[in-house]
Amino acid sequence: MAASSGLVLVTGASGFIASHIVKLLQSQGHKVRGTVRSLANEDKVKPLYSLCSDAKHKLELVEANLNSLESWDAAVKDCEYVIHVASPFPSTSPQDENEIIRPAVEGTTNVFKACAKAKSVKRIVLTSSCAAIAWEQCPGYNERVRTEKDWSDTTKIDAYSKSKTLAERAAWDFIKELPAEEKIELAVINPAFVMGPVLHGSTGTSQEVVKRLLEKAMPAIPKINFPVVDVRDVAIAHVKAMTLPEAAGNRHILATDNMYFSDMAHVLKKEFEPQGYNIPTMVAPYFVLWLSSIFDKTVKMILPQIGLVYKFDNSRMKNVLGIVPHTTTDTLVDMAYTMIERGFVFKTKKYRGPPEQKQG
Ligand code: NDP
Repeated sequence: MAASSGLVLVTGASGFIASHIVKLLQSQGHKVRGTVRSLANEDKVKPLYSLCSDAKHKLELVEANLNSLESWDAAVKDCEYVIHVASPFPSTSPQDENEIIRPAVEGTTNVFKACAKAKSVKRIVLTSSCAAIAWEQCPGYNERVRTEKDWSDTTKIDAYSKSKTLAERAAWDFIKELPAEEKIELAVINPAFVMGPVLHGSTGTSQEVVKRLLEKAMPAIPKINFPVVDVRDVAIAHVKAMTLPEAAGNRHILATDNMYFSDMAHVLKKEFEPQGYNIPTMVAPYFVLWLSSIFDKTVKMILPQIGLVYKFDNSRMKNVLGIVPHTTTDTLVDMAYTMIERGFVFKTKKYRGPPEQKQG
């Protein structure tokens, strides 16, 4: 094994979660290299260079694509830790499930192969998901509180959940099969639905709910319940899992509270209605949603979730990783302000901006 470099690779640095991980690592003085699909994509790349203005080490960005094994050797070179976050997270289901399963699974294997080849990597932290723990879309699956011992049944889940389950399984199998003298430690993070402030330069699936509520993109909201966790807590979990001895060889569920979309709507309404936002709080009957799912692919994707409540045991998050979670109110309100400030949601005439102490 090469001498310790301290260098940390974060894959998919331009994403919602990864940008928070990069910022936290830099603020703690780590040397960070991030991967992006294209350095020429200014909208995605530019915000990354200003994540941590007083960083001890300037952020290094390199190009790598999950579909290309060759691109990972240079990305992983000399790294001591690899935080593998990149994976497709679409807000609509693709026609062919392999469009997301292949990059998720082969991409994970490609990154892990490069890690094994590099001989400098001590530990990999993999961003998996609660979708790999339990996300079965049929009644009766939501009675029991799920733990890290549970695995989703790939015959009963959507394409995205399947991509996460199969990718995580591929990661554990890869590590198990490494010869003893080449062992790399693996710690896995399994977040619930991640929300919170936006630092990156685009919006994705996690931002969709808040955007739709603030912009009243639908007159009524589906009766959907999600376990939620704050992106800042997710970043802390990844960084702790990088070095904490007890994290190696384990999965870690990150989930703070279960919330219905209507709970989220009420939190946002309290803060943003006085600022001119017209937030829907009426719950839509099933047949209305079914109708709109014919035209709206996002609604189509969430339709099977109606009536399901997934409950997860967050003891490892609190007791092993030592996370004291943000309140869901702070998570949602901070998220909404950053989305308005960054221009992802329109500003109303009455908009007065985030409270003084929350700016910056
Ligand atoms: P984002 O969509 O914001 O980030 C996904 C990242 O993956 C982006 O940087 C994207 O690059 C990159 N990526 C996708 N496909 C490829 C590819 N073929 N090659 C290289 N990079 C690729 O999503 P999140 O930050 O929310 O999600 C990050 C991770 O967390 C994913 O693994 C997701 O499954 C997992 N997760 C997310 C949850 C959530 O609620 N947000 C919950 C649980 C797990 P680009 O910027 O170029 O598109």
